[in-house]
This record gives sequence, structure tokens and C-alpha cells, in this order.
Amino acid sequence: MTVNRKIEAECLEALEGLHIPDPWSADAFLAWLAEARRRPIIVVPWKVVGGITGCWVERETADFLVVDEKATPLHRSHVVCHEAAHMWLGHQGHAAAELSAQAGLPHHYSSEQEQAAETLAALILERAALPSPSRVPDDVRRVMDTLYRGVTVDSLADPRGGAAGRRRRWFRFTV
Ligand SMILES: [Zn+2]
Repeated sequence: MTVNRKIEAECLEALEGLHIPDPWSADAFLAWLAEARRRPIIVVPWKVVGGITGCWVERETADFLVVDEKATPLHRSHVVCHEAAHMWLGHQGHAAAELSAQAGLPHHYSSEQEQAAETLAALILERAALPSPSRVPDDVRRVMDTLYRGVTVDSLADPRGGAAGRRRRWFRFTV
């Protein structure tokens, strides 16, 4: 199994244990996560420069999640999910002492851990964007089922069921 496949499998499994609020709310998600981990998560919007948009600081009794105060709601969700993914995957947060002792932010995650956090964050946001099936009306569900069967809009519009490319060529010959 390649590294990427391994990470994807690990993240898909981790995703199943997570409760993703529907409708999505980053705050509700963190509240659930804090409950599940039995540790408070405190979000601190803060001025951030240098391309870093979030940081998880792990203290003895609580986790602090520093988020760029200028982040848009979508970006904030991404940062929250990325740091939450580090937590859920069992990685370690930054120690406060380690941060105050250094001028720059230490980067102690391996590239594999970073990739895993990013993959799980993307999976969470992907699932968060999908409404639960019960909230989708029947007629929309029928369209979704059609799409799932691989019937394209092009082949629906063409009574002979031909592909769009073939139809275009046919037009060129007849005009
Ligand atoms: Zn990270």
C-alpha cells in the first residue's frame, strides 16, 4: 500500500468516528470534539502573519486553537478542521513553553502527519457540505440517482443517446 493510500485509509476510518454537524458549524463541531476528547478547546482569534493561519497549543488541561482573526468563515472552517484533524489523529499539539522560547513557530509535524491532517480536514469539509439525504426533496434525489448511474446531461438531451463529441461532428457535416 502506498503512503498516500495508507493515509487515505487511515483518514476515512477516522472520519467515521467523527460527528459532523448538519447544518455545518465549526463551533458545534469543536464543542463535540472537546466533549469526545474530554478536554476543553478554546478558540483564540489572533493577528497572524507570515502565512500561518492556525496553530494548536496543547496545555495540561485544555487545548488552545489560535486562528487568524482575518480568516473568512470558510477559511476559518478549514483551519479548525485541519487542527481538529491533528487532534483526532492523535498527533501532538505545540507546547506553550516551546512556543515562547522560540522566535519562530516550530514545525514538528512530519510531512506524513501534515498530509493526514489535510486529508482528514478535506473529508470533514466535504461531508459538511453535503446535506443529509432526508433534507433533499424526492425529485432532486431522482436527479442525483440518475447522475449516479453515469447518465450524462449530454446523453439525456440526445435522443439517440450519443456522446456530445459525436453529435457535434455530425452537425459539422450537415451544416
Ligand atoms: Zn498541520
